[in-house]
Amino acid sequence: MAEAQIIDGKAFAAGLRERVTAAVAALKADHGKTPGLAVVLVGEDPASQVYVRSKGKQTVEAGMESFEFKMDTSTDQETLLAKVRQLNEDPTVNGILVQLPLPKQIDEQAVLTEINPDKDVDGFHVVNVGRLNTGNPSALVPCTPLGCVLLLRDHFKGSLAGKKAIVLGRSNIVGKPMTTLLVQESCTVTVAHSRTVDLPAEVAQADIVIAAVGKPEMVQGSWLKPGAVVIDVGINRIDKPDGGTRLVGDVDFASASPVASAITPVPGGVGPMTIACLLRNTVTAFCRQNGYPEPDM
Ligand code: NDP
Repeated sequence: MAEAQIIDGKAFAAGLRERVTAAVAALKADHGKTPGLAVVLVGEDPASQVYVRSKGKQTVEAGMESFEFKMDTSTDQETLLAKVRQLNEDPTVNGILVQLPLPKQIDEQAVLTEINPDKDVDGFHVVNVGRLNTGNPSALVPCTPLGCVLLLRDHFKGSLAGKKAIVLGRSNIVGKPMTTLLVQESCTVTVAHSRTVDLPAEVAQADIVIAAVGKPEMVQGSWLKPGAVVIDVGINRIDKPDGGTRLVGDVDFASASPVASAITPVPGGVGPMTIACLLRNTVTAFCRQNGYPEPDM
């Protein structure tokens, strides 16, 4: 059987970053102002340190102001909340992102709720969750699901209406907002999770499969409807037989590729879209805060 078309998230994300960079330059020229993104990192989690570094680098490359705040692992909740309040008040900061996960002494929800919803470029504040679920256009949309939907719209040349989609996973960060976005695209959506009975039979119905379970190579090619479009959100580091590690998704790429019509690779699929969408959200937030028209990105 022929191999699936590769949905090249890395190339799409590079194009999106170029459009963001052009929008930032035009905003500077027209208004003399630069969008700013503040990222707060609490603690020493190695993966979070890598993410924060690349967020800062890509923010600067897009011509925006990047503000980075590193706080000690032992930081208490009140100190972090005070930092968030200060950033809420700072007019040079248009987007605020508190890197998750947070150390155990800090209540994640309390911190997310403290962020001004109009600066909440991660889209995790309950106000943005509510706006997204009610179709309110002022919602800031979580970056990873937004990236998936941009890839799907591009692949299907616009309309996803009427497609049967399944979302594997129901987290607040990926699964739930992904489900909402697909409903808004007029897909017929099934949400699966760890208590789903007969997952392969559910997956077999779907034209679009979004895998966000955090289980290395769980979804098998034999589960897929022939011709399905597969978006693999999973990022899992596994041991290689000869030592070292490698990144794999939640989908078994080798068995899925001959059955699917199109598939995102890991790495190089959804991953690069997340930061590109964060930059896009920062420009969107900046324009809304200043009453400027939102650029086409
Ligand atoms: P969570 O652990 O928060 O959620 C996992 C979801 O998968 C849960 O809803 C869980 O069900 C479900 N699940 C777990 N095991 C199974 C199973 N055997 N069958 C069916 N469903 C199952 O993960 P996240 O949503 O945060 O992340 C998911 C994946 O996406 C991870 O690999 C993560 O690394 C990756 N990710 C990638 C990003 C990117 O930038 N590309 C960004 C964010 C995440 P239940 O609710 O019943 O427990």
